[in-house]
Amino acid sequence: MRGRDTAVTCDNCGRSVHRPKAVSFEKAINMSTNLHQGNDVKFFERRRVYYCISCAKHKGIFKKKAEQAARNAEKYNY
Ligand SMILES: [Zn+2]
Repeated sequence: MRGRDTAVTCDNCGRSVHRPKAVSFEKAINMSTNLHQGNDVKFFERRRVYYCISCAKHKGIFKKKAEQAARNAEKYNY
């Protein structure tokens, strides 16, 4: 811990990591209450999750982040 850095909890293993070191990732959550009838409630949320370094490495988050960055660069440079 350096100075007044706050700690976040890893979403996968529960280890507490301080925020500059943690890997944040935006995760999309889809939920619906479809009970095989017409009136279902759909719910969509984009949640920011934090992972520790080892969990991020294990889950391939770095690769996903690189892909996202490449996509964004393509989108905004042209
Ligand atoms: Zn972890």
